[in-house]
Amino acid sequence: MSAPHLEHLFHPDNAREYTSGITEAIRLLVDQLATLEGPTTGISPELAAKPVAEVDLDDPLLDGGAALAEVSRLWLEDAVWFHDPSYAAHLNCPVVIPALVGELLIAAVNTSMDTFDQSVGGTFMERRLIDWTAARAGYPEATRDGIFTSGGSQSNLQALLLARGEAERRGVPLDRLRFLTSEDSHFSIAKSARLLGMGDAAAIAIPTDADRRMDVVALRAALDDCVVDGLVPAAVVATAGTTDFGVIDPLHAIADACQDFNVWFHVDAAYGGGLLASPRYRHLLDGIERSNSITIDYHKTWFQPVSSSALLVRDLATMQHASWYADYLNPRESENPNQVDKSLQTTRRFDALKLWLTLRTMGADQIGAYLESVIDLAREVYDLLGAQPDIEVVAPSQLSTVVFRYRDPLLDEEALGDLNRRIRAEMWSGGRGVVAATKVDGRQFLKLTLLNPKASVQDVLELIEQVRALGLSLGRVVPEVAR
Ligand SMILES: *Cc1c(COP(=O)(O)O)cnc(C)c1O
Repeated sequence: MSAPHLEHLFHPDNAREYTSGITEAIRLLVDQLATLEGPTTGISPELAAKPVAEVDLDDPLLDGGAALAEVSRLWLEDAVWFHDPSYAAHLNCPVVIPALVGELLIAAVNTSMDTFDQSVGGTFMERRLIDWTAARAGYPEATRDGIFTSGGSQSNLQALLLARGEAERRGVPLDRLRFLTSEDSHFSIAKSARLLGMGDAAAIAIPTDADRRMDVVALRAALDDCVVDGLVPAAVVATAGTTDFGVIDPLHAIADACQDFNVWFHVDAAYGGGLLASPRYRHLLDGIERSNSITIDYHKTWFQPVSSSALLVRDLATMQHASWYADYLNPRESENPNQVDKSLQTTRRFDALKLWLTLRTMGADQIGAYLESVIDLAREVYDLLGAQPDIEVVAPSQLSTVVFRYRDPLLDEEALGDLNRRIRAEMWSGGRGVVAATKVDGRQFLKLTLLNPKASVQDVLELIEQVRALGLSLGRVVPEVAR
């Protein structure tokens, strides 16, 4: 057995090795950035899988530079770049540099947020950021609380766990509990009902209105139906920024209904949460202060690297439903502030540091201005597309999505859906633009999610030109004379 090579350990003796490793990685990254020609190389799953499968993990390269070169070939050279203005697909944001500086520190120090004795000041920095965000949401100072999470899905799961716990305290059996949420809500709501042992039927989908916002008349009818059927609504989930349409459910009207029926009110603001930092558009979240819990994804509209997310709660006492005490970690009698008492995770990254450095370096208004600029961009693009006869748009966003498709009056619905799917696939493999796809009432559409403050109207119109050119060339299934 050979002695271990201790120069690989992050240790005061190895500051030089650390610096050179990091410097080499930064150089690779910056060189890669300098040669980018688009958001993707359009690589296929087959081509991406092959070189990865060929690596023998039991035969190490034993050289950091060679390992980095290999990683570059397997992944980095084909990575999808969310900061490219021609990337407009999913809810991925370009990230801010202060947060990347934080990322470096988080990884090296390897602080874990579960207990005070593993995180010291980090515990209080996380708590300050939770309190700061909850204050912006309008929660009462005396009772507000929350926790950083790995993402919106986990925040939603925990919110619904707390709502379930509150209902169970009133003696309601699990199989009677229901969650009510709009048909356009994120799938993590229905999935949470399953994970919480309530079954798939426990998530009731409420129809949306013409603007694709939750129909509150239908919500009240569904709440009435629950009572008639002997079921107990455990939570109503409003979405503040639906994933597809970027619209915000009517928060005040839903709060009223929750008050009348004495139901937990959760707001999934994974997408729209960034409005808390926007002086111009903060009012779109009016009514959020009346909720019991809120999901915020800093890694979407706050321009933070994955992961960075939070669950906020109005009343810290409700967090007890997520608590568990272990003698070896956080004994009940511990006097230390232990964040694990409020978290679904145990070992947990100090993701809060990224937001901290962002706020201290840039200020919240700058983050808000980034979000405002993409909201304005989406509005301008929506208006422009609405005037183009070969493009069909649906439901204007209150945030930054544009749902649209290429239109050809000679094609029936099925052919049109097929054509738009092919347009998207061809754009991907062409590598010059990435858009997303979704269905609207069963009909195939394309979607732009605009989260890049550097993208201009011109950049987005060039994406539409790609769509149009592909629509013309791929759609020419009928002879020219017939058109
Ligand atoms: C993205 C999103 C989620 C899920 O968040 P993750 O961070 O991806 O887990 C939940 N709800 C909405 C409305 C979202 O847009």
